[in-house]
Amino acid sequence: MTRVALIAHDEKKPDLIEFARAHEEQLRQYDLIATGTTGQRLMDETDLEVERKESGPLGGDLMIGAEVAEGKLDGIVFLRDPLRAQPHEPDISALLRICDVRDTALATNLASAEFLIEGLAE
Ligand code: PGA
Repeated sequence: MTRVALIAHDEKKPDLIEFARAHEEQLRQYDLIATGTTGQRLMDETDLEVERKESGPLGGDLMIGAEVAEGKLDGIVFLRDPLRAQPHEPDISALLRICDVRDTALATNLASAEFLIEGLAE
């Protein structure tokens, strides 16, 4: 089964919710995982079932990175906030890096997320 991770920094969470709603039918067919707060909001504000990892600052990005390292994920939508420093920047860098190491599809903004979701549908 296709397995997809969804993550958004606080300022980007509304965008991710809107994205998930727009693609809800497609996303419902996938195994979804998310960092803690993102996952909670997705479950509260959409009809999607999401497996929640820890919150990003508490290690959630690393938990998702571990799944990438294990080859378990088909794609990641990670809407980062490019305008604010994050306390867990090293974890974020680690996640981006392991996606490159494992050649795992990663979208860090809405425009590329649209391509990713289209690609997964093919
Ligand atoms: P959150 O984590 O979904 O728990 O807010 C996201 C992040 O900051 O990486």
